[in-house]
Amino acid sequence: MKTRFAPSPTGHIHLGNVRTALFNWLAAHSAQGTFLLRIEDTDQERSEDQYRQALMDDLRWLGLQWDEGPETEGDLGPYLQSQREKLYHDYFVKLIEQQVAYPCFCTEEALKVSRKLQKASGLPPKYAGTCLGLSAEEIEAKKQQGIPATLRFRVANEGKIAFTDLVRGKQEFSCKDIGDFIIRRSDGSPSFFFSNAIDDALMKVTHVLRGEDHLTNTPRQQLILEALGLTMADYAHISLVVGANGTPLSKRHGSKSVQELREQGFLPAAVINYLARLGHHFENEAYMNPEDLAAAFSIERLGKAPARYQLEQLMYWQHEAIMHADDQSLWHWMSKVEKDELKVDAFVPADMTIEFVRMIRENLMMPEDAINWAGNLFTESGLYEQTAL
Ligand code: GLU
Repeated sequence: MKTRFAPSPTGHIHLGNVRTALFNWLAAHSAQGTFLLRIEDTDQERSEDQYRQALMDDLRWLGLQWDEGPETEGDLGPYLQSQREKLYHDYFVKLIEQQVAYPCFCTEEALKVSRKLQKASGLPPKYAGTCLGLSAEEIEAKKQQGIPATLRFRVANEGKIAFTDLVRGKQEFSCKDIGDFIIRRSDGSPSFFFSNAIDDALMKVTHVLRGEDHLTNTPRQQLILEALGLTMADYAHISLVVGANGTPLSKRHGSKSVQELREQGFLPAAVINYLARLGHHFENEAYMNPEDLAAAFSIERLGKAPARYQLEQLMYWQHEAIMHADDQSLWHWMSKVEKDELKVDAFVPADMTIEFVRMIRENLMMPEDAINWAGNLFTESGLYEQTAL
């Protein structure tokens, strides 16, 4: 089994993205397979190096190391889509030669008007096919005039396209509803549908676990792969994580980025134990390490219903993670933070650190709690002195 996480580095990753990464990591590890990381940075305007670095740091902090991908390498790279242009180019040429792809010179404005008209007539929005019938001469003339062109994939006006989703069962779509879609933007970069599908095939990914918001993209990707004779992975579209009001999780629900959680003092084991259960059922409700979670993970146990994010649950697992951490790493965790310019080691004698950790562990939630305890226990006015009297 080979799974992958394919984030776009356009911002800091949130709990919803991390859960997708985790499920892919767990699936790969449940089968002694390979977990691949691919950076989908084709949108040059929005992709930033700092976000790529940050997301790799986040994954490593969580223990979700990839077996193949940037900085790990492998035989099927490069693993940054921005470095794969030559490869995509060859496939564009093939599709053009097969006459399943054609240049489209329609302006954004014209497309907007067309969509409005369709909407007004009660039709679903799809490309009207304006540029489909252009002759070779017309195409050449437009190119000569320097009119920018996208490349569209031609979809038949009849028939159906179907696949079996590992979570949602059989999915069937009418081709006539899909419409010819863009596979290359006018700046020459590949569209998501295209590079994502091609790369999964070329990188030999066998299972794609991704958010169900991508479900309707899959038939388009299947059409591209079929046209190129490439193998399609099995898809498992996972339910979205929602906030208390049932809408997809966002900052409004207090959902934090991984970086914020780390800075706040959450332990990676807490985040992992919480997220693993958000949309996947485990028989064992006790705290587990990642490898044990992987051994008990199975795609069949992924739920169809939206998974609800609850901070209290995360806090529960934070406490569990604290109870299961070893003394030394817990000391390290608490001794990094400062409160009012004070750290635990300002109070705790060097030969009492482990004893201190054992004494207060049960009462901790966040690392700064330890500073209060240290102050109470080891200053003259503190509890330690009082009880010692
Ligand atoms: N780059 C896409 C995203 O971040 C990947 C989707 C997928 O997993 O196929 O949404």
